[in-house]
Amino acid sequence: MKYCSTRGQVRNLSFSDAVMMGLASDGGLLIPEQIPQLSQQQLEAFSHLNYRDLAYEIISLYATDLPAADLRNLVDTSYASFNHVDITPVVKQGNVYILELFHGPTLAFKDVALQFLGNLFEYYLIRDNKKLNIIGATSGDTGSAAIAGVRGKKNINIFILFPFGRVSSVQEMQMTTVTDDNVFNIAIDGTFDDAQAIVKEIFNDQQFKQAYALGSINSINWVRVLAQIVYYFYAYFRVREQTTCEQVQFSVPTGNFGDIFAGYLAGKMGLPTRRFILATNANNILSRFVNSGDYSLADVHHSFSPSMDIQVASNFERYLYYLYDGDTEAVVAAMGRFKKTGKIIFPMALQAKIHQDFLAVSVDDQQTIEQISSFYHHTGYLLDPHTAVGVKAAGLIGDNVPLVCLATAHPAKFPEAIDKALKDKMLPLETIERLRDLPRRCERMVADVKKIKKHIALNSSKS
Ligand SMILES: *Cc1c(COP(=O)(O)O)cnc(C)c1O
Repeated sequence: MKYCSTRGQVRNLSFSDAVMMGLASDGGLLIPEQIPQLSQQQLEAFSHLNYRDLAYEIISLYATDLPAADLRNLVDTSYASFNHVDITPVVKQGNVYILELFHGPTLAFKDVALQFLGNLFEYYLIRDNKKLNIIGATSGDTGSAAIAGVRGKKNINIFILFPFGRVSSVQEMQMTTVTDDNVFNIAIDGTFDDAQAIVKEIFNDQQFKQAYALGSINSINWVRVLAQIVYYFYAYFRVREQTTCEQVQFSVPTGNFGDIFAGYLAGKMGLPTRRFILATNANNILSRFVNSGDYSLADVHHSFSPSMDIQVASNFERYLYYLYDGDTEAVVAAMGRFKKTGKIIFPMALQAKIHQDFLAVSVDDQQTIEQISSFYHHTGYLLDPHTAVGVKAAGLIGDNVPLVCLATAHPAKFPEAIDKALKDKMLPLETIERLRDLPRRCERMVADVKKIKKHIALNSSKS
């Protein structure tokens, strides 16, 4: 399998090159040159596999230059850090299926990809005797999961930028209590989009990128998407064991379009699904895009589901590539327009195409809180606020088929929202309480790309 860029100037990369490149050197995003199609027999064979074996099979379709025994080992090591035997269990609650993606070390779905990516990075770096300095921006969960993925790993440093005061207290603790020598937390004065813009700008400085062997771990890295494809299949097979319905529908709370894009690819590989439900909070650029072809920037709102407080969806360009049928010039033109004017307006013909892939709705804070509360009173099950956005969306616009709602975080990560919905129902979680007394390490900085570059240069190891 070879990889190319959505902008057409990078082609014929191996899997390992794609992993190490992160953002494509032409400014685009890397995607596989073809999408493997699963036959009915393959689907049937995969339906009986446990999570690790399924992950191995699906990843090996894309990681064709990775020796089988090594991939097996990487998968096993990565998911050994999960505290549930099924890795991503599916539980029926009320009239929906909840796909629990929060059993990894930082209690959010990003662990599923980042535990694997951390091990994969270390594997390639040791093999090639190279160093890597990872730079990432986070609205909370990516940072902690990325840090958990690479802490203490050989040949890697990580620099994580997050918006000061705009991530939950638990998320902040999960990042800043990691004091391994290779971990650098940077709290900037600004929003997540400011942090992400700084990271993009740093990556666009090719000279700096090369000199400091920079790599990314944000959802722009292809492996993030790849590892997430697995659980769509896994969930589908678990639901199929319980119903006669051929198709299921997934509801995905989204901000960066990463998780839902993995589902979209699973669908393209042959997973029998209805169109995906795209659920946003008040930061609704993606639901406006689906519902009216209006992809235009608005101000970032601070919500109860902070990991989705995003306007510029970093994976959106990957979908654009497929929407334009692989026309890289059209992608370049659209992204250029977006950069210049802050918006892309899609004509009716394309809107019709988008509607074949997605349904969308925006769920506000009040609806989110009400959903947490009513779901709890109905089922005794606690939804985290992100998951609640997806469950609410499923109730509002879901089809009459089994609905799988992705539970992207453990409720204990967001005690503020839970407390708002259900006073005193959130029991303290030991894995979190333990963090309170640990020493912390974090640098607070202004959102100035020059200063941040200097900080990175000072603390990174050259390859
Ligand atoms: C990151 C995150 C999301 C959004 O995922 P995207 O891939 O950015 O769409 C949703 N919920 C939680 C808990 C997250 O951490």
